[in-house]
Amino acid sequence: MSDRVRCNCRRCMIRGLMGPAVVIAVGVLFLLDQVRGGYFSFGNTFPVILIVIGAISLASALAPADGHIFGPLPPAPTGAMPPQNPQGQAR
Ligand SMILES: [Zn+2]
Repeated sequence: MSDRVRCNCRRCMIRGLMGPAVVIAVGVLFLLDQVRGGYFSFGNTFPVILIVIGAISLASALAPADGHIFGPLPPAPTGAMPPQNPQGQAR
């Protein structure tokens, strides 16, 4: 198992589907190539992979990122106070 921080927001969950969806799409296209051939040869159907990637990217971009975790955060030291933001840097 990797020790990457797993974000559970909708955007990251959809983005995590990219790899499996591309593998499934490539498998279905090769299956069509083997079973049907001709018009359904991989040379004709490969743009479906781009469509799958684009559709998932679009869905990921449109999904809310509520609760998104920005990168791996170092573990907070126990008993320490959180850093105070100076007044000048407040946005
Ligand atoms: Zn996220």
